[in-house]
Amino acid sequence: ATDLVTFGETMALFVSRRTGPLRFARDFDLGLGGAESNLAVGVTRLGRSACWVGRVGADEFGDLIRSALAGEGVDVRAIPDLEAQTGLMIKGRRTADHVDVRYYRAGGAGSRLRPEDLDPALIRGARVLHVTAITPALSESARATVRHAVEEARDAGVPVSLDVNYRRALWSQEAAGAWLREVAGRVDVLFATADEARLIAADAPLDDPAATAAALAALGPRHVLVKLGSRGAVEWSDGVCRRAPAYQVTAVDPVGAGDAFAAGWLADWLEGAEPDQRLRTACAAGAFAVTSQGDWESLPTRADLTLLERSADGVSR
Ligand code: ATP
Repeated sequence: ATDLVTFGETMALFVSRRTGPLRFARDFDLGLGGAESNLAVGVTRLGRSACWVGRVGADEFGDLIRSALAGEGVDVRAIPDLEAQTGLMIKGRRTADHVDVRYYRAGGAGSRLRPEDLDPALIRGARVLHVTAITPALSESARATVRHAVEEARDAGVPVSLDVNYRRALWSQEAAGAWLREVAGRVDVLFATADEARLIAADAPLDDPAATAAALAALGPRHVLVKLGSRGAVEWSDGVCRRAPAYQVTAVDPVGAGDAFAAGWLADWLEGAEPDQRLRTACAAGAFAVTSQGDWESLPTRADLTLLERSADGVSR
């Protein structure tokens, strides 16, 4: 059986090599990305098994997604959809310091996920089910898939993890907040940024992440992680609050830090690591993700994690 099961939309990703308005781009690197499959890669790199389920087009990009994830050792269940194409993401830099991501995904194969696409035995046999609040914003059938999967997991006593991943292009803060408040009480692990926390608990204090985490925990999750970017993260678990600073790294691309953080936390949780260790691993994985281009390529292995501890002179021999 697989340690972690997740599902969602993964898309082809075009990254402009040039900084400036996208219309002046000349060359693109082709890759792929999706919050849930990024997480599956992260968990796999850290030594646990992960399965990703999603719909892709019967096209080159669907094949790219299938082969790249399989190459990473993820158990890929990429269902070919004959009636829609794989969605696209285009990433550019308007300035050296500002990354912008555009999505061409409406009606794409990934959004057509439906409850029958998930094998109940797969969920029932997992040690954790991981979902994001991207999926319910994609379509009615995708939203039903999340509801169905969460119920299946709860029914079988499989813990559920939810990473908010709020996408403003897909739905309003009000709609996302309503959905999140409904689901927060049904999950065991909840990952959110400080801003996302306020979608769920509107009166959560902006400048007090510990109180924010406590407000979310009051809704039911046993573990709440509030991510604070370069300021680290706060964890509320079983009534205890922990805080971890971020690792000092040179950030080149902020995208993917959240997925990496969740992957690090869940991998260590699956390992049965101590809470302090688990939070450090999560922060270390988040730090790795920001150090290079690509949403998941730079995700760390266990060996990589030790680099952060001994990077004082920046050389390993
Ligand atoms: P994403 O950009 O992927 O949506 P996010 O907004 O969900 O990320 P962040 O808070 O930006 O989440 O990052 C998650 C974690 O990664 C942070 O809690 C921190 O531990 C680590 N991290 C993020 N940015 C940096 C940074 N600049 N330097 C070091 N660590 C970082």
